[in-house]
Amino acid sequence: MQIWNPWHGCRKISPGCANCYVYRRDGSIGKDASVVSRTGNYDLPLKKDRRGGYKLAPEGGTVFTCMTSDFFLDSADEWRAACWDMIRLRKDIDFHIITKRIDRFEQCIPPDWGDGWDNVTISSTCENQDRTDYRLPILLSLPIKHRQVICEPMLEEINMEKYLSHGKIEHVTCGGESGPDARPCDLRWVQELRRECVRSAVPFTFKQTGAVFIKDGRTYRIDRRDQMPQARRSGYSYIPGTETGDSIVYRLPDREELFRRLSGSEFRSRFHLSQKDRQYISEKGMDTIMRHAQEFISKRLSEENPENDGRQTPMKGHPVFIAQHAAACCCRSCLEKWHNIPSGKKLTESEQSYITDVLMDWIKREISQV
Ligand code: SF4
Repeated sequence: MQIWNPWHGCRKISPGCANCYVYRRDGSIGKDASVVSRTGNYDLPLKKDRRGGYKLAPEGGTVFTCMTSDFFLDSADEWRAACWDMIRLRKDIDFHIITKRIDRFEQCIPPDWGDGWDNVTISSTCENQDRTDYRLPILLSLPIKHRQVICEPMLEEINMEKYLSHGKIEHVTCGGESGPDARPCDLRWVQELRRECVRSAVPFTFKQTGAVFIKDGRTYRIDRRDQMPQARRSGYSYIPGTETGDSIVYRLPDREELFRRLSGSEFRSRFHLSQKDRQYISEKGMDTIMRHAQEFISKRLSEENPENDGRQTPMKGHPVFIAQHAAACCCRSCLEKWHNIPSGKKLTESEQSYITDVLMDWIKREISQV
């Protein structure tokens, strides 16, 4: 990863800054990170090597810009115009700018910015719901060709589906916090954000666990060198149109434990077979009901991103629909939340059989209760 830091030093402005790594690193060598100064690499994009080629020639084409400060920091206002000149000149590079100051963007762009430049990606960081609801409407309203969101450090569950559904955000990245005072990151928040990205077909990267990671209610301390590999191994990153969800390691829930949890849910336990449903089952027979269940699962649930996910299962009209709501098999989000079957992948034959089995089990238990 190639980096261009035209200036160094920053000022903390939001909860995500509390344990800023720039402050941590500078503090360890007795330097004051709040002092902002231009670096010796200020003009790096123009620097040439002995052979006359540009020194800044990233392999993947991307240069992460201003990683030890914020590109839109007010203390750097007088230096920014020259940076835009260099960015304009180096159209061969994608300059990726990550900021917590998206609200200063409009007053910081050059006069010929127009609808945005193809070689500039702007990422707004959103560490919690409050900052997401403040920054993302601004990000969406601005003339930017490439927009991304970075939830790092992720400090709580963040819901951003209403911003993703516009189709203007190209990528979402999330991760925990590192360092000795790291705040915890919970896998459930990662899973929920992933589900939202899957539903809007937005690529999602779970970049790193952070130093304190919560999984299934247990808190783990993760060594620095394991934070990225563990996130990678979890398989939670998602690229639309690929089988990325296949790599997620998951365990189907124990049946009795599942039914116990379902009975504790006010919403799920509201669903029961009506007299009409019971009569329908007795007329058709269990084999036919099972065949209907298989068909509904295959048609409405099995695709990678089913259309209208969350709304594909009617609330009444067939006993299998009732069973689907009661047993949390009604949409891909519920399958992930209750059954650990990840969204963003096609359901395998065995997963479909498992779901059919759960539904038939629920129907049999329901019938036997009278
Ligand atoms: S904006 Fe970024 S670089 Fe600046 S203090 Fe906050 S976390 Fe650190």
